[in-house]
Amino acid sequence: MANRLLIKGGRVLTMDPALGNFEQADVLVEGETIVAVGRNLEADDCEVVDAGGQIVIPGFVDTHRHVWEAVIRNVGPDWTLPTYLHHLYFNGLGGTLRPEDVYIGNLLGALEALDAGVTTLLDWSMVNSPEHADEMVRGLQEAGIRAVFAYGTPLRGAGAYWSRDSLLKQQDDAIRVKKQYFSSKDQLLTYGLAIRGPEFSSWESTLYDMNLAQELDAICTMHVGFGSWGSVDRSIEKMTQAGLLNPSVNLVHVNSISDEEYKMIADTGASVSVTPEVEMMMGHGYPLTGKLTKYGGRPTLGVDVVTSTGGDMFAQMKFMMQAERSRVNETVLARGEMPESLPLSAYDVLSFATIDGARALGLGDRTGSLTPGKQADIVLIRATDINLTPVNDPVCAVTLCAHTGNVDAVFVAGKAVKRNGRLVNVDLERIRTLAERSRDYIFGEYGVPDSASNAVKSPAKA
Ligand SMILES: [Zn+2]
Repeated sequence: MANRLLIKGGRVLTMDPALGNFEQADVLVEGETIVAVGRNLEADDCEVVDAGGQIVIPGFVDTHRHVWEAVIRNVGPDWTLPTYLHHLYFNGLGGTLRPEDVYIGNLLGALEALDAGVTTLLDWSMVNSPEHADEMVRGLQEAGIRAVFAYGTPLRGAGAYWSRDSLLKQQDDAIRVKKQYFSSKDQLLTYGLAIRGPEFSSWESTLYDMNLAQELDAICTMHVGFGSWGSVDRSIEKMTQAGLLNPSVNLVHVNSISDEEYKMIADTGASVSVTPEVEMMMGHGYPLTGKLTKYGGRPTLGVDVVTSTGGDMFAQMKFMMQAERSRVNETVLARGEMPESLPLSAYDVLSFATIDGARALGLGDRTGSLTPGKQADIVLIRATDINLTPVNDPVCAVTLCAHTGNVDAVFVAGKAVKRNGRLVNVDLERIRTLAERSRDYIFGEYGVPDSASNAVKSPAKA
C-alpha cells in the first residue's frame, strides 16, 4: 500500500470552486495523490501532519522564471531592461557560463522557489551547449520541484540569435533533450520550448520554432508585446492571423499591445505570464492584468529575474493586485470621484498564482488546486505567526500579509520538501559553496556588472 499522509485540521483553501474553502478540514494523500479533502476524514495507518493553526493551500505555480540566474542574484537593483539585456545577453556575461554554473544556479533557484511554497515553475532556460542543458535538467531534478523545462536559445553569441533579423533556428539539441528526458508526461519535469518569437528573431525563425514546439508537444513560450516596440509591431495580431496562437502558447509580459490584441489573446486561449515587479521596474510597461481579464482572459504570475527581485510569489501577487487597482483608481480620481469598489479580488489573484498558472503550463489536471485525483502539491502557511494571527480572512492573509518566512511545510507529489520551516535533506553548506564558486568564476571572467549601468567593474579578467 502506498504511503498515506493525513494533513489534519487546517484552514483549507482548495482553489477548486467546486470544493470551496474550509474553516477546518483534512487533506488525505496516498502516495503522490490527493485522495480526499473534507471535514474529519477517517483514516488510519497514515502519518498525521497537525495543520492546526495553518492555512493549507495548493503550491504556487510560477509560469516565468530564468532559474539559473539565482547564482548571480541581486546584482541589478537599478537595472533597466536594456541594462539587463546588455550585461546578460549582449556584452558577454551569459557567455561565460559553464555547465556547472547553470547546474548550481538551477538547483539554488529551484530550492529558493520550494522554500517559498512555489511547487511548480517554468524554467525559461538559455542553453549554451548540450552539456548545459543536461546540467540544468539535473539541477531541477535534484531540487525535487515540479517544472516545465523550457529549452531556450544560447546566451553565448547572443547577438546573432537575439535580433529580429536572425534567421537562426532553435537548436537541434532541443529535440535530443525532449527524447532523452521527457518521453513521459507522468513525471515532475515536463517539456517546453523557450523561443525568441517575432520581436527577437525573424518571422521565418518564429514559424520554424513554433512548429517545432507543436511537433514536440511542448509548451511554446516567448517574450512578446512589451517595451517601446510592443505597440508598433502588432505581433499578437500577426500570430493570430497566422493561426499560431492556442492554449499551448505562453506569452510573456505583453504590456503594450492594442486593446483588440488583448481580445485576440483571450479568444485564442493563449496563456499570459505577468511578471509585475520587473515589468514596472525595468520598463517593460504596465502590467496588463485588467486589460486581459476584461475579455475573460486569466493572467498568470511569474518572478522572472532574481537578479533584481526576490524569488517568491507573495510579492508578485501584491504587485499585480495593487498595480491594477492603482491603474483603475487613477481613472476614477481623474474624474474627481472616489472609488466605490476595487477591481480584481484577492481570490482572483490567488487563482492566477495557482490553478490558472497550472493550466497555462498544461498541468491543470495535475496540480494548481487541492482536488482529489491531483498530485499532492501542498503548502502549509503558519498562521500563528505574529504577522498573521489572528486570521480573519485567510485569502487576505495569504495574498497580502504572508511571506516566505511563514511557509511551514511544502509537499511536492506527496513528498515533503520543507517541514517545520526548513528545507528537508538539503545540504545548504554545499550549495552555498558551489554557488559562491560559480559566482566568483562568472564575475572573474566578466567583471562585476554595475548595479545601475552598462559599466563593468573589476575583478574582470584581463
Ligand atoms: Zn523573462
